Amino acid sequence: MERIACRHCDNLIELPKRVQPKQQVYCPRCHSFLFEQHRFGTQQSLAYSISALILLLIAIWFPFLTLDASGQTRTISLSEASLDLYLQGFWFLAILVLMFIIVVPVLYLSLLTVLLMARKRVFSYRVAVRCAKALSYMTPWAMADVFIVGVLVALIKVIELADIILGTSFWAYMAFAIMFVITTQIANCYQLWTWVEEIKLRDS
Ligand SMILES: [Zn+2]
Repeated sequence: MERIACRHCDNLIELPKRVQPKQQVYCPRCHSFLFEQHRFGTQQSLAYSISALILLLIAIWFPFLTLDASGQTRTISLSEASLDLYLQGFWFLAILVLMFIIVVPVLYLSLLTVLLMARKRVFSYRVAVRCAKALSYMTPWAMADVFIVGVLVALIKVIELADIILGTSFWAYMAFAIMFVITTQIANCYQLWTWVEEIKLRDS
């Protein structure tokens, strides 16, 4: 019998031996949604993770958007957005933006890729445990979808003041956000430790 703790009320919940694909798990005490078991294999999960990472790298590299207001044109990229905030004196905000839209997702996807590759025997059980621990801490801080909502709201306001050309990075980040949300759903905490457990059984 496996047990997990509810992250909302700390209730210890006993899980059935194997949670079936598409089955959703709720906390019996506070009724919070805990996770849904997916039917994705290692190969598919790896494909989602690597695709999200590639899309994010494209989004970092290319221009995000171009603003054209009264003859003045300005093109900004994702990394320049936090640099600009820093130069204007909002250094704390600059660090937060850089962390949550670039650093945490890159780290998260890289660690998940390593964990999934451990299932393919590229890395050892020890590496898989370290990755799973780090990923469990990082999951609540992965907020790419929140950033997208923020950008869309900001765009609605700016669109009245300036002409906006959406760059390659914008579309890449949109696609990345979708892939990233799916990836974090697949690699929920229960799934992460199920993968680790399977690697342990295989290696022992
Ligand atoms: Zn609960």
